[in-house]
Amino acid sequence: MLALPNRDSRPEPVMPAIAGHDAMADSSFDKRRARIFRPVAVVAVVALLLLAVIAMQLVASNDRETREHEQAMVARGLALRMHELEQAIIPQVEWDEAVDHLGNRLDRHWADAYFAVFMHSQVGATRAFVLQGDGRPVYGARDGKPTNAAPDALFGPFAPAAEAMLPGLRQREAAAHQPPVPGQALAHAVHTTALARAEGQVWIVSAHLIQPDGGKVKPREGPLAIAMVAIPLDAPMLNLFGQRYRIADMVVMPMAPRNDTMARVLLKGLDGSDLGWMVWSPQRPGSALLREIAAPLIMLLVAFGWGSWIFMREASQMTRELIDSEALARHVAYHDTLTGLPNRALMFDRLNHLLALARRHPYDPAADLAVHCLDLDRFKEVNDTLGHHAGDELIRKVGTILKALCRESDTVARLGGDEFVILQPGTTAAGASHLAERILRELSRPIDLTFGQVEISASIGVTMVPDPQVEPSDVLRQADMALYVAKEAGRNASAFFEPEMDAALRLRRALEGDLRQALSHGQIHMAYQPQIDRDDRVVSVEALVRWQHPTKGAISPTVLVPLAEESGLVHELGEYILRRVFEETRGWPNLRVAVNVSALQLRSPVFMAMVTRLVAEYDIDPRHYEFEITETALLGDDGVTRNNLTVLSQEGFTIALDDFGTGYSSLTNLHRFAIDKIKIDRSFVHNLDSGEEAEALIDAIVRLGRALGLDIVAEGVETESQRRRLALCGCNHFQGYLVSRPVGAQELEKMIPGR
Ligand code: C2E
Ligand code: CA
Ligand code: CA
Repeated sequence: MLALPNRDSRPEPVMPAIAGHDAMADSSFDKRRARIFRPVAVVAVVALLLLAVIAMQLVASNDRETREHEQAMVARGLALRMHELEQAIIPQVEWDEAVDHLGNRLDRHWADAYFAVFMHSQVGATRAFVLQGDGRPVYGARDGKPTNAAPDALFGPFAPAAEAMLPGLRQREAAAHQPPVPGQALAHAVHTTALARAEGQVWIVSAHLIQPDGGKVKPREGPLAIAMVAIPLDAPMLNLFGQRYRIADMVVMPMAPRNDTMARVLLKGLDGSDLGWMVWSPQRPGSALLREIAAPLIMLLVAFGWGSWIFMREASQMTRELIDSEALARHVAYHDTLTGLPNRALMFDRLNHLLALARRHPYDPAADLAVHCLDLDRFKEVNDTLGHHAGDELIRKVGTILKALCRESDTVARLGGDEFVILQPGTTAAGASHLAERILRELSRPIDLTFGQVEISASIGVTMVPDPQVEPSDVLRQADMALYVAKEAGRNASAFFEPEMDAALRLRRALEGDLRQALSHGQIHMAYQPQIDRDDRVVSVEALVRWQHPTKGAISPTVLVPLAEESGLVHELGEYILRRVFEETRGWPNLRVAVNVSALQLRSPVFMAMVTRLVAEYDIDPRHYEFEITETALLGDDGVTRNNLTVLSQEGFTIALDDFGTGYSSLTNLHRFAIDKIKIDRSFVHNLDSGEEAEALIDAIVRLGRALGLDIVAEGVETESQRRRLALCGCNHFQGYLVSRPVGAQELEKMIPGR
């Protein structure tokens, strides 16, 4: 019987197909890897870019601050330089000697030898002039040497500067003399220094009133003479400046430099006009730092990138392994390990899915779903005679054969043991029948195993899903019922489910319930059928079970025993029967009582314990009792059966082999097991009337039995002629309606001699 799935633990849906789960794992792996690594990569790149931008901004702002600082420093430095020059000039022109030699008269000799030379060598002025009170130049020197020509030519370029400076000087001169006191020294020096453009370059021009300092010399009446010197902002001067402020390449340009990164200071004239720009390349500590750390930084980045790549690769490998093991776990959860076919869980999942599809297209006649239940007919035999490995190999082969016969869209599942289920969607009853027939044909061919060739067959139950609303478990139940019918019909056959089967099954279920009740309510009785010898003496009886159903009447043991076996009541029934038999027959003298036991009972380890217990309880002599076993009980020589039989005969019970000749008995069976008696099946006896062949067979059986030292009983003896022929064959014991039908205990007691 098929076990039904637990509805509460539905497997995770894995439709539509899991063929090639590797491909599934691959694509899911790629997706997951992308999901994990893409954001990581994006974040890393964005972070790196951000870092770079921040670094560049830091570098730029650091450089800019440094440039601004240098510009302020240079601007201050220039002002300071102008002040220094002024201070250097003051002692030379605010001096009695200067008033005497330059202001009151022009002592050319003094001017040449002292004034021009001093201004050039000590102050750095390449132009030196003396202007009279009215502003006219009376003396000019260039590079410390007097000009031979009139001073006007040399002075010309500086005239605009002088024009701009003199009014201020005169104003302050006038203010210092308020009221003006001729010939008297001013309270303090009067001078002015400014930048000016002349001869195509920028100059520091310093103009001073020539005035006395000690009072020994009195200046002439009228405005004071003026000493005016010009120092060019040329390369030597800029170099000197540069050394002071550690600037290497300072130049003066008429226009502002295009390059923003160059430092510059605007040079303005006294009247506010732009004279040009001092320009230099400033220190760039940020850039310098960047240059310095660039190499190690790049190495670090490369190392980081390399490390990340390794990390990603390892992580990706790990993820891959995780996904693989997950896929494997999923595969294991939904597949049979022996054949690799879908297992029960996956089969039910697909069945559910197919039913759901059918519900969506209810009127498609070509889209019927067929469900096949398949079961191998003699699997247990193979397993028992050739061993588990052969059994496993056979199951694998059958799986392969089934897969080969089915279409890609069909599902071939193994539910366990030798049970297979095939889901065949999109077919018709004819199509399903065709498939079932092909499977039966294919499986009845010999199958090659490493252990040799085996011949098996299968039974198939098919159900066409009539109504997609049906529960998957009901579909399986229907196919299983059909399988049961197919097996009943004699194996190597297929059967389609019909609604009557359902009714029959329901009936069986009801009967199972009744059987339970019958056991507890004592509705089951024993009948006894005598066996006689050649001299018509009753030597033994066979106990046969009888069930008088309250509504259904007498139920045959051929129904009752299998029912008990299938509903798990066979041990209970077996004990019940043995109790009744011991109880009713223990007083019967010189009579052997035979009890039938089913193969299932005999295969159970608890059977022997039960017998021993009842022997003690009813205090019977085992030598008066016999167990009838069928040949099927001996098939598949399992240790328990053999052990049970051995112990039974050791305790004194005799063992009879029932229905001899119908099963698969072989001589070895008779030999290996502790058999005392064989019962010739009634079908042989029945055939005695119809031909010689049966007689020859019986003759052979009797000879065989004799040779092995076994007792021989013929069953189903109904006529005197049968009895005569059996006797001629050498059979000495007879059982059958000719002697008596099975009767109740009390009735039988009347037949027993000596009672
Ligand atoms: P069996 O062991 O071969 O039992 C003999 C069957 O043949 C009995 O049928 C019996 O009534 C019937 N029979 C006896 N004489 C004749 C005859 O002359 N002609 C014909 N046609 N039949 C005859 P029953 O009682 O219906 O039992 C059927 C089978 O049920 C038995 O076959 C046995 O295998 C099984 N069975 C009966 N009682 C028990 C039991 O207590 N335990 C077990 N495990 N099986 C039992
Ligand atoms: Ca029997
Ligand atoms: Ca029999």
